[in-house]
Amino acid sequence: MTVALYPGSFDPVTNGHIDIAHRAARLFSKLIVGVYDLPQKKLLFSTAERADMMKKALKELPNVEVTSYSGLTVTYAQQIGAHLIVRGLRMSSDFEREFEMALMNKKLAPGIELVCFMTSLDYQFVSSSLLKEVAESGGCIDNYVPSFVARALKERLLLKCD
Ligand code: ADP
Repeated sequence: MTVALYPGSFDPVTNGHIDIAHRAARLFSKLIVGVYDLPQKKLLFSTAERADMMKKALKELPNVEVTSYSGLTVTYAQQIGAHLIVRGLRMSSDFEREFEMALMNKKLAPGIELVCFMTSLDYQFVSSSLLKEVAESGGCIDNYVPSFVARALKERLLLKCD
């Protein structure tokens, strides 16, 4: 049984994240999606909100569990018995970041492997931060996130303007 951890801030979950989760869930016996609890980083949604949205987005996948964690990702991977960490790659800058992190993680936890999935063509330009910018400027993001995420994003940005 291969257990994989897919960590991320998911602020909020996008169709790009969902695509990676579906593909990883097909490949591994169990996929744990770990939502970072990062009190020091300014995010639009709370950890609980990000985890709830992810749960809703992946609810039809029986071998997927959504959790949240803080601290080192490799430490969390060891705690939950994960064999590998899943990440997504969209462009060369993602590769550089993941490569650097993977080398450090290998030193910290030699038993944990990194498996990177190439983005699907439709989602190459999709990132939570870009979608937040587009939504903030009144652009339509409905094709890139589930409808409940689009609604939550619009509501949150309206609240932010008040
Ligand atoms: P982080 O703060 O860890 O980068 P993100 O929520 O931005 O968290 O992304 C989580 C993971 O999902 C990262 O590996 C990122 O590269 C990947 N990812 C994000 N968007 C996409 C996408 N559109 N296609 C493929 N992978 C993606």
